Amino acid sequence: MTSIAFIGLGHMGAGMAANLAKAGQKVLAFDLSAAALDRAVGAGCVRAASTAEAVAAADVVITMLPAGTHVRAVWAAEVIPHAKPGCLVVDCSTIDVESARFVAALATKAGLRAADAPVSGGIMAADAGTLAFMVGCTDADYAAVEATLAPMARVVIHAGAPGAGQAAKICNNMLLGISMIGVCEAFALAEKLELDPMRFFDIASKSSGQCWSLNTYCPWPGGVESAPSNRNYEGGFLTALMSKDLKLAQDAAAKSGAATPLGAQAQALYALFEAQGYGQKDFSAILQLMRGRMADL
Ligand code: NAD
Repeated sequence: MTSIAFIGLGHMGAGMAANLAKAGQKVLAFDLSAAALDRAVGAGCVRAASTAEAVAAADVVITMLPAGTHVRAVWAAEVIPHAKPGCLVVDCSTIDVESARFVAALATKAGLRAADAPVSGGIMAADAGTLAFMVGCTDADYAAVEATLAPMARVVIHAGAPGAGQAAKICNNMLLGISMIGVCEAFALAEKLELDPMRFFDIASKSSGQCWSLNTYCPWPGGVESAPSNRNYEGGFLTALMSKDLKLAQDAAAKSGAATPLGAQAQALYALFEAQGYGQKDFSAILQLMRGRMADL
């Protein structure tokens, strides 16, 4: 049995920690929220009084926190000073590449092993143990990272050195944001041209326009039964999170000198949609912005 400190038991961390406990690991859980910690204990985790207490007793540490500032603060002040020598520390949050590389370097300098392993898949995948992990770590550490993540994963992929997992995540989500907007624009045009949306779905999903945003996550209700469009865009992957990831992608593009004009447009559109009060809707709800039918939401 491995002792795993799990820090950050929110929407995603709750299910992830529960799946580790279900797999027979000793999960030492901590969250600033007492309610989140109580839920984790109810799901088989062991209550820790602080991050430091959980980390000090662990062979592996996992953090699942809101953003880069939280990860920098928690790793520097609470994880690194208290971790056992050689401890494996894995951050699964979605954060900027620069912060991921910074905390990995700090941890390595302190004699620890570090990885970034952001996830694709939302709360349902976290609960079901079917997340996709994109891992940035050394070749030497990868086997241990993969074994740690397995009970929470559908797939684990080694993207490269520390920071590469975050780079893969923001590039993937920029592509997803752009493709969703493209699909929504096509539906909006089809509607104006009096083409039946479901006929259009049947055709495009079998033609060269097919993509995940259309075939698996169709934003027009009725296309794909399991898609959030069939439940008034509740649940799924929140617009606020897509907006966050597109902002991370644009910050990274500006710093690295990459030209990403469509990513910039996607970020502007999702920021606008979020600012209008739709941050808690699934990101495919942006269809209604394209159609000029926000009142339907
Ligand atoms: P969340 O806000 O629900 O959970 C974060 C948790 O961290 C909260 O319970 C909070 O109390 C805790 N926390 C914050 N600061 C802390 C500290 N200093 N010490 C201990 N606990 C602390 O967020 P979430 O939806 O679970 O997302 C977590 C990360 O996963 C984010 O980076 C997000 O972008 C990413 N992500 C989320 C989803 C999703 O669908 N929710 C999907 C993929 C990736």
